Amino acid sequence: MTSYPQSTVADVDAAVKAAHEAFQSFSSSGAQTRAALLRGLAQVLEDNRERLVLLADSETHLGPARLNGELDRTAFQLRGFATRVEQGAAFAFEDDPAVAGSPPVGHPHLVRVRIPVGPVAMFSASNFPFAFSVLGGDTASALAAGCSVIVKAHGGHQGLSHTVAGLARDVIATQGLPVGLLGLVDGPGSQIGVALVEHPLIQAAAFTGSVRGGLALESAARGRKQPIPFYGELGSVNPVVALPAALAVKGAELAQALAGSITMGTGQFCTSPGIVLVPAGESGDAFVAQLSEALRGAKTHEMLTPQMRKGFDQGCAQWAGEPKLKALLAEPAAADDVSPRPYLAQIDAQGFLSSHKLHEEVFGPAAIVVRVSGIEQVIDVLDAVGGSLTVTVWGADAPTDDNVSLVRAASRIAGRVLFAGFPTGVAVTAGQHHGGPFPASTVPFTTSVGYAALDRFLRPVALQDAPQWLLDRKGVPA
Ligand code: NAP
Repeated sequence: MTSYPQSTVADVDAAVKAAHEAFQSFSSSGAQTRAALLRGLAQVLEDNRERLVLLADSETHLGPARLNGELDRTAFQLRGFATRVEQGAAFAFEDDPAVAGSPPVGHPHLVRVRIPVGPVAMFSASNFPFAFSVLGGDTASALAAGCSVIVKAHGGHQGLSHTVAGLARDVIATQGLPVGLLGLVDGPGSQIGVALVEHPLIQAAAFTGSVRGGLALESAARGRKQPIPFYGELGSVNPVVALPAALAVKGAELAQALAGSITMGTGQFCTSPGIVLVPAGESGDAFVAQLSEALRGAKTHEMLTPQMRKGFDQGCAQWAGEPKLKALLAEPAAADDVSPRPYLAQIDAQGFLSSHKLHEEVFGPAAIVVRVSGIEQVIDVLDAVGGSLTVTVWGADAPTDDNVSLVRAASRIAGRVLFAGFPTGVAVTAGQHHGGPFPASTVPFTTSVGYAALDRFLRPVALQDAPQWLLDRKGVPA
């Protein structure tokens, strides 16, 4: 097995200083420079596709089909940000001409621009070795905003991280930009990750991972002499609400497809459905039977890391320890089986509400069916779950009072509310929001997917009675 050099705290310091130096010129770069860089990074991924996918597969077991698709998405995302920058998204400003007279009516000429925050610490995710890693969404949006980036590699795909970072630095150098623009550090999060977040020159951090890891790093970000924004995407249980209206029309089809969503990527998606709310009664019984049947036949593959597998087995065992929960499939696989068996169990709403441990995410192909009687119980269950990246509601087509209440409850707890389809699969586009109240996100006003992610790395500054040369820059920082 190849071993990769572990960073020291001195390496972190050197990488951040290089990123700070690179930021001095890159922060005032125009659209052409940034777009060319983002397009060059997309191209280098595609040009090296074959070996990158092979390497990623050997480290993550995610399979060539999924990994090729993820590489496509990552290149699309980089090019998408390039286009947004060319369209002026990073340089948009509010020009408020002077008004003569005394305040509050009269005021000076104010132009509200946005400047890049500075070097950004970025934590790669385990489960998206391309799309949420070295050249993933956080890096793309930070570079589009004019920031430099230092990535903390994830131990689950170190080889890929080092290889992609090397290719990216070649692109940066070829384009005549400072290579410090993209740094990579590697080592235990509790030392190297914390040292990165605590470095005084780091001005923001972006993280995708567990609640425990995210909270530890957020606390480091807050504990600094100068606290900095910590954009963490953490855990999520992604409730799916199947209303009687939907089950009446296509219950069997939904059950089959939901099983596919629960087991997709062996359930290793932050948007994997973990709680399914199903009406008590016959149509609900049929749906649960169909879902169980589909899951029984579903294929999974080896999980990303042995620790993640251990976490899955422990999580299922903890759920199964709840006496009111009734297992719907065979017992979970023994810990030494390579591919975990899906886990599905059922409980009524009262039982679910009274057992806090059932409200927590189990990362992997596991879900709990909660049987509900009426909209009040649906809303109680959603409120008990709390913050989530998504809530899916099937069958709310009519503008009834119940549906209005349900949409309000879903929007209260989630960053994305779906009325068709499945939460797995997050489109990279302008209307996307991937976040939500804690623990889905530590900053629910911001997104980590889609072009609005740019906003996380731009800080507003009001220029008052600015000289003409500065106004002539049209929002491009000086
Ligand atoms: P993880 O254990 O949180 O690791 C992510 C990063 O945080 C790694 O670089 C890790 O460093 C570091 N880290 C972990 N604990 C730390 C601590 N106490 N102090 C400082 N740094 C720490 O996440 P994972 O390995 O991806 O585990 C899967 C979990 O992530 C699941 O629960 C899943 O829900 C969540 N997840 C969420 C999303 C989302 O978008 N919301 C996406 C993917 C995964 P080292 O491991 O190198 O020490």
